[in-house]
Amino acid sequence: MYKYSVIVPAYNEEKSLQLFYDAVTEKFDSTGEPYEIIFVNDGSSDETANIANALAEKDARVKVCHFSRNFGQQAALLCGLEHASGEAVIAMDADLQDPPEVALEMIAKWKEGYEVVHGKRRKREGETVFKRATAFLFYRFMRKITGLDMPRDTGDFKLYDRKVVNAILSLGEHDRLLRAQTTWVGFKQAIIEFDRPERVAGETHYTLKKMVKLAQAGVFPNTDYTLTFPIKLGLFLGIASLLCFITFIVLSCVGVWFGGLTAWLFPTVGLAIALVLIFQGVSNIHLSMVYKEVQNRPKYILAEKRNFEK
Ligand code: UDP
Ligand code: MG
Repeated sequence: MYKYSVIVPAYNEEKSLQLFYDAVTEKFDSTGEPYEIIFVNDGSSDETANIANALAEKDARVKVCHFSRNFGQQAALLCGLEHASGEAVIAMDADLQDPPEVALEMIAKWKEGYEVVHGKRRKREGETVFKRATAFLFYRFMRKITGLDMPRDTGDFKLYDRKVVNAILSLGEHDRLLRAQTTWVGFKQAIIEFDRPERVAGETHYTLKKMVKLAQAGVFPNTDYTLTFPIKLGLFLGIASLLCFITFIVLSCVGVWFGGLTAWLFPTVGLAIALVLIFQGVSNIHLSMVYKEVQNRPKYILAEKRNFEK
């Protein structure tokens, strides 16, 4: 029924909600196509709930989901995806840091046939050096460790085609970093660059604790690097210790002094640690396989089928 669904996680956004509504409706009305705005009130303790309800009262295109407590932005986005009925879904922050005019550019890209359109931050106004540095490192680290081709400096400001929404919702994971899942599911992806303005009102809700949780949700479901590292280290240490032993044996056979009894201690301890790491690593591989079973991601995702049933 709706062409577009705008999904908006909102946590204590009493100062921005009305401004957001005004700016978004102004831009989206200009498309002349039907759209809905879904506010997901993530357990706000301020007037966000009442303001969202009042907007919904006046405008039937505004839908509101209220969480029973604060579950976090990723959960709010997931709720938005689950409740959206549009052919294209656009996720936007409530603080107008994701400009509505860029959302229209995303729609234009979608009409060209792209199924995911990422908003890439060119400049980030009003953000602390710490926030910028952690974000910079996070994207690079994530790409390296997970091998996912996640576009750098993109947040959750994205457009998803209905097919992509369905694919993401088919992943049954508990802890999610939507950006990582969006890359994992594939489909035709495009990037739009924009200058990220300061938030229109209020303050950021992203504490260090929340950022760590987010990073965790991005890394662990997407890589078994932490589990496979011990076996690699164990094998390296084992081979190094064996080579050391061989060198010592050869040296002692040809009668060259090589440091006495304490020298033998190094490869012996090295070998013992290597064995522990290798056994740990083998159990970890098993654990990693169990994790994948529990995670139960689809084995593949179809973009399209031809000449099957009608
Ligand atoms: N948000 C949320 N739950 C939270 C924290 C944030 O729904 O626990 C929302 C917030 O209202 C905003 C978006 O997520 O719409 C981005 O949050 P914020 O602006 O605080 O983060 P920043 O832009 O500073 O990274
Ligand atoms: Mg913000």
